[in-house]
Amino acid sequence: MPRVKKIPLVSMTPGTSRELTVWRWGKAGARPKAYLQASIHANELPGAMAIHHLAPMLDAAEKKGQIKGEIVVLPHCNPIGLSQLVGNTHSGRYEHLGRENFNRNYPDLLAPVMEKVGKKLGKDAAANVTMIRKAALNHLSGLEPMKELDQMRIQLMSMSVDADMVLDLHCDAEASLHLFMSRRDWPSARDLAAQLGVEATVYNAPYPQTMTFSGANGSFWARLQEKFPAAAVPQACLSVTVEYRGQHDVNHTLGASDATNLFKFLQRRGVIAGNPGPLPKLKNDATPMSGMDVGYCPRNGMLVYLKPKGAKVKTGEAIAEVIDFYDPNPKTNATRMVSRTDGILFSRKLDGRLCWPGMVAFRIAGAKDLPHRKGLSGLDD
Ligand SMILES: [Zn+2]
Repeated sequence: MPRVKKIPLVSMTPGTSRELTVWRWGKAGARPKAYLQASIHANELPGAMAIHHLAPMLDAAEKKGQIKGEIVVLPHCNPIGLSQLVGNTHSGRYEHLGRENFNRNYPDLLAPVMEKVGKKLGKDAAANVTMIRKAALNHLSGLEPMKELDQMRIQLMSMSVDADMVLDLHCDAEASLHLFMSRRDWPSARDLAAQLGVEATVYNAPYPQTMTFSGANGSFWARLQEKFPAAAVPQACLSVTVEYRGQHDVNHTLGASDATNLFKFLQRRGVIAGNPGPLPKLKNDATPMSGMDVGYCPRNGMLVYLKPKGAKVKTGEAIAEVIDFYDPNPKTNATRMVSRTDGILFSRKLDGRLCWPGMVAFRIAGAKDLPHRKGLSGLDD
């Protein structure tokens, strides 16, 4: 069994309180350190299912003495979001109190770390990494958040900022398995993409600009490298958002195979001893965020799709229709949405969804930069 730690969060209303649940395998401080968390958007549970199957595998490995590094796992990392029941439905993407997306506004550690250790960084990469991690942890431990959400963000950063790899497990509405990461981690993270069997990997170039959880961790080292080009600052943390398909893709078959692939990835990176076997073939090469076409609903209505998730599509192909159910004229009552790139339709919504102008209906991973996507992050819902 893992070592379990409960971290109480600030109580926001009388008589209520929540806590983070943290599981740990391996020796504290051992390297490499892997950090995995599931479900920052609360009701995105495929990652929690993968961890449900991974935990007994890690127990067995620990019993055999095979865990060489440290593995920190939050089987569900957002108890605030979990609590947000509204009239027999669940609303877990935005915090109801401040209306913030749960996966934004993680602490930016660049300035405080620069101030503390910037002048001391030299040519010794390992020494720099140790100094930088220590400064980041010191800064986080000195913060005094008043609100539960701020405290939760700081706690999640405190457990992950010194990790060698950070996997933030999400899912989409209806999607193929895909990854978001920094350009700095590609192609070095091909082993992750191949082992997990992802259909698409989309990278931010040169690194994520938005302070999502994985963006805050993924851009931290890259931005330090930019600030101190003369010093040896390596990309010391691989930080990735793993989108485990769609919200309803939760079953024992997928959970077990996802857990096996996570376990084998941890073996490949030396966190767990043992031979993971041959690396599966990478399904599709990574593509840039600037090549990702995003379909925004042009009007309100009822959304239906003409292409399934995972479809390879061409420029100009119709992906979805928005139907105006108040319009009886067959010539005008459906508005088609088309792809503006050649690529993989890796993310969409469910058929029959009520939609509104500007709502994201789909995302397509294409290899070529798209003029209409220049400078956009893709994090728009
Ligand atoms: Zn999510």
